Amino acid sequence: MDCPACKGVVVVVEYQRIELDYCTKCYGVWFDAGELALLTERLGLEGGSLTVSEIVALPEKRVAEKARRCPICRKKMKKVTIGSASEVLIDVCTRGHGVWFDGGEVGQVLGQLKDKHAAADKQGRVIDFLGEVFHVRG
Ligand SMILES: [Zn+2]
Ligand SMILES: [Zn+2]
Repeated sequence: MDCPACKGVVVVVEYQRIELDYCTKCYGVWFDAGELALLTERLGLEGGSLTVSEIVALPEKRVAEKARRCPICRKKMKKVTIGSASEVLIDVCTRGHGVWFDGGEVGQVLGQLKDKHAAADKQGRVIDFLGEVFHVRG
C-alpha cells in the first residue's frame, strides 16, 4: 500500500494490539473500517459516533489541501473534521474503506489539547490514542 498523502512506504505497526498502517515518511495513519471499529471498542467507545459510515456522513470541509485517494479503491476521499475541542481534518473514503489521519495534523491538535484537558469526548480520545502512536506526547 502506498501512502495516500506522500506516496511513501506504509508499514503495519501494532500498538496496544491494534494494527495501523503507518507512513514512515509523513507519519500519517490509515485505519481501515475494521481497525477503526476495533479501536473504538478497545478504547471503550462502543455505541457510536466514530464508525466509518458516521464519519462519511459528516459535512464536507472545504479546504485548499489536495484531495487524497483511498489506498484501496483509489477514489478521491472526502475531507471532514472530527473532534469538538479542537478540530482534526481527516480524509474518509466515501465507499467506506477507511479513514486517513494526517501525521502533522494530529500532532498539531494534540499540542493544543495538552493544556485544555479537552480530550474527554469520544473523538478526542481517538485523537489522544493517535498521539501516543506518534509519540508526540511529553
Ligand atoms: Zn506519507
Ligand atoms: Zn475506498
